[in-house]
Amino acid sequence: MTETLTLPPTPDGLARAADLLRAGGLVAFPTETVYGLGGDARNDRAVAAIFAAKGRPSFNPLIVHVPDLAAARTVAVFDDRAEAVAAQFWPGPLTLVLPLREEAGISPLVTAGLATVAVRVPAHPVAQGLLRAFGGPLAAPSANPSGKVSPTRAAHVLAGLSGRIAAVVDGGACAVGVESTILGLDGPPALLRPGGVTVEALEQALGTPLPIGGSETRPNAPGQLASHYAPGAAVRLEVTQPAAGEVWVGFGPCPGAALSLSESGDLVEAAARLFHLLRQADEVAGDRGRIAFAPVPETGLGRAINDRLRRAAAPRG
Ligand code: AMP
Ligand code: MG
Repeated sequence: MTETLTLPPTPDGLARAADLLRAGGLVAFPTETVYGLGGDARNDRAVAAIFAAKGRPSFNPLIVHVPDLAAARTVAVFDDRAEAVAAQFWPGPLTLVLPLREEAGISPLVTAGLATVAVRVPAHPVAQGLLRAFGGPLAAPSANPSGKVSPTRAAHVLAGLSGRIAAVVDGGACAVGVESTILGLDGPPALLRPGGVTVEALEQALGTPLPIGGSETRPNAPGQLASHYAPGAAVRLEVTQPAAGEVWVGFGPCPGAALSLSESGDLVEAAARLFHLLRQADEVAGDRGRIAFAPVPETGLGRAINDRLRRAAAPRG
């Protein structure tokens, strides 16, 4: 348990919040849609801590918040369509899914290992102030425990997450109260989630009708992320005795393991390393190789880790 601070939306309060974020802490803050639970999008452990605080059972991708279009361009690749809608609707309740810029150093936990990234420029002055004080991209899902209603006041955030996050910046009630609209522009335009910006306004801006996303090639929900990174090597789970030739990835004490999710058995560390380790184990094992993961407990973040590992181990077509 940490004691959750309530900070005022003053320059001092925002400077304090930015310090907590730089130290890898989580800070909830108001946006025009709902309160977001912010963490440094480049810090694997901070992003893992977001999933832990929310109790999310799977690693669905998070939205990256930046202060302006220039900052957004450093995170994602903008084509003419993306430039046009960004110019018209940012800052505001519109999230764009665009090709990721690898060099931005966004944690693979933010994108769930995808080659795309969801990015948005919030209009709320407190969100703007915090992003500028912090000076980097913030991953921020809604600041509520998984499965609960999104918070539109600091008191709602505290009711759900007090003791699990470093601070909440109290900026009063949110104006919009529904989540941002998510527009996929990493291919043909697709509406991935309805929200604060209307479909009609987007269709007018794009000059084309907007199909509702969600086909196998256009994932819009956690379980539909078909393009999740799948290792080339065969993956076996819950392995306490690896077979000869298997690359064993440990969790907790696993003498002889080639790699480890966390030597000390820390689930936050394991989540932070997970996507890096999937790739690393794949490289060590080689194309026809075999990877064996030690058991990870099905509690807290372990559920999200096991969900991801089961996808990696699932038979592929
Ligand atoms: P939340 O952060 O709780 O508002 O939810 C974020 C939403 O954005 C979820 O519905 C995600 O599935 C979606 N999302 C985030 N990143 C991507 C992405 N790269 N591709 C498709 N959907 C995404
Ligand atoms: Mg939510």
